[in-house]
Amino acid sequence: MPADVVVVGSLNMDLVVRTPRLPQPGETLTGHGFTTTAGGKGANQAVALARLGTATAMVGCVGDDDYGHALRDGLEREGIHCQGIRRCGEQPTGVAVIQVDDDSRNSIVVTPGSNGELTPADVEGCDALLASARLVICQLETPLATVRHALERARHHGCLTLLNAAPAMSLPRDLLALVDWLVVNESEAAALSGQTVTHPDEAARAVQCLRKAGCRQVLITLGAQGVVAAVDDRLHHYAARPVTAMDTTAAGDTFVGAFAAALSRGEGIEAAIRYGQAAAAIAVTRAGAQASIPRHDEILPPAH
Ligand code: ADP
Repeated sequence: MPADVVVVGSLNMDLVVRTPRLPQPGETLTGHGFTTTAGGKGANQAVALARLGTATAMVGCVGDDDYGHALRDGLEREGIHCQGIRRCGEQPTGVAVIQVDDDSRNSIVVTPGSNGELTPADVEGCDALLASARLVICQLETPLATVRHALERARHHGCLTLLNAAPAMSLPRDLLALVDWLVVNESEAAALSGQTVTHPDEAARAVQCLRKAGCRQVLITLGAQGVVAAVDDRLHHYAARPVTAMDTTAAGDTFVGAFAAALSRGEGIEAAIRYGQAAAAIAVTRAGAQASIPRHDEILPPAH
């Protein structure tokens, strides 16, 4: 079955500890809960797309271990095309160790494991999938050479590309030039632009700077402060939906998946941003990464 959107990216098992506050270096705290949930930016975005009604395929790499089997099975249950997920024996499945405090802030350590084994040849093996897709999405939790190859193949086949340039790092201009939609949060925007990005005015300056660097469309997400984007060459700030957040894990992934779901069904950029914000606002009121991602029928239209 052809997919409208192909996600080339990471699958991780998230090991989540809830703690009263984030520990200082050298400090031991007593947490109040531990859960194991499916995550990884690529897989989270694929789940968001599938739950929101998009025909989605995932290209990735898991270890030949219990976590790897569970992650692939979980995506299959979501109706995601998983033929492009390779099982590799050399590395364990990627793991993210996540601490969430009582103020819903998180700190995350990711060990890439098998995600680091995803190669350009894996992308090549899924070329027919890319050829029939409308949109290809990448993040930066897999090797940069693989990301570049996926973006190049997508361009070759004439499909749109979206890069969620996370986690934060600087990128060469020629790679940014392969991206139709760049979606980044504050720290990722800062790493790419070399500017401080903490509030909407600074984000607006960073959007302009990244567009000058060759990015076509740039969206900067600012957590509860919403999204800044250039629409029809004019900068806009889209306020976030007011909610009481309890776990912001996967807020950005839900936004990316929902934004892409709306784009792939032909909606305009403003409607797609609002849809992404609505989905992410629901996700932050729930615990977990993939567990928190809503379905299309849960998303209410904006109040006027
Ligand atoms: P990331 O998880 O990549 O850091 P953000 O924290 O910027 O991403 O969140 C992405 C989007 O999710 C935001 O632009 C916003 O629309 C929504 N969001 C995040 N946190 C909240 C919140 N506390 N309240 C409402 N919406 C939120």
